Amino acid sequence: MQRRDSRPEVTTVQAAGPDWARGCDKCKGGLIDAPDASYFSAPLYLVRVFQARHNLLTICNCRAGNMRRQFLRNAWRRIESDEDHLPDAFRQAIEEEVTRPTVHFERIAA
Ligand SMILES: [Zn+2]
Repeated sequence: MQRRDSRPEVTTVQAAGPDWARGCDKCKGGLIDAPDASYFSAPLYLVRVFQARHNLLTICNCRAGNMRRQFLRNAWRRIESDEDHLPDAFRQAIEEEVTRPTVHFERIAA
């Protein structure tokens, strides 16, 4: 499968960290077949945080996956508590981008 996303999935912290942080043979930095994020305007980590909230990510059970899960959970908590302030319009724009059906990924409303 060809990947158009040229942005690195693995964060600089992970890349500089131990080998396990980059993921196992099933995942990339803890994510399995992460949806393409190359067309998003928001920073990749934020896109992933919102995708996680909408259950659009498959997180691996390896060590990198567990770290990723914890990171996403903490990042969301900071947004929810307004510790990391996202302007409403910005937040809404990410929500819309993340949940918009694409050619590659048909989203079925729950
Ligand atoms: Zn893994």
